[in-house]
Amino acid sequence: SKSPYSAQLKSVIRTVRDWPEAGVNFRDITPLMQDRSAFRKLIDAFVHQYHDVQIDAVAAVDARGFIIGSPLAYELNCSFVPVRKKGKLPFKTLSETYKLEYGEATVELNADAFAPGSRVLLVDDLIATGGTMIAAANLIRRAGGEVVECVAIIDLPELGGSKLIQNAGFSVFSVCEFT
Ligand code: AMP
Repeated sequence: SKSPYSAQLKSVIRTVRDWPEAGVNFRDITPLMQDRSAFRKLIDAFVHQYHDVQIDAVAAVDARGFIIGSPLAYELNCSFVPVRKKGKLPFKTLSETYKLEYGEATVELNADAFAPGSRVLLVDDLIATGGTMIAAANLIRRAGGEVVECVAIIDLPELGGSKLIQNAGFSVFSVCEFT
């Protein structure tokens, strides 16, 4: 909640109750992206946050992370690196498997994504349990990158993910929270 636009951005995030399963409040960012003013303010908030920070690459999580990671990498004049779901990257990859509420998931990163010591911003749309961000951040470290910050549009603080990410040694920035 560090952006002056948090309230405006929250107003264009749609909550879909009990989706994809009972008990989950899905935070749908498609109305935000359809609103050109809100979408620009969101990207500008991230650009402003990192304008004076040395960033060599934006790494974004498949698939909604790509939507914000690409314009951010363009504006920060740095590389774009995808963190993809298992089986999508054709060359040499590193992979991390992590626990979900039911079952597990695997994310992958190109082994040659970063020059050693590259300063990397990690981007996704939302932090829930934090499992995805932590797995992706570990991948970045293993590939020789330094995670400057884990960046999300939305944090769900009651799920404890942002705390876990910080306890794992990574810094977190989000523009709005839902409780
Ligand atoms: P987690 O690994 O538990 O932090 O979950 C984060 C990932 O799952 C992100 O890539 C989100 O897109 C997605 N996700 C988890 N919970 C939600 C939710 N309530 N609304 C929208 N996306 C979610």
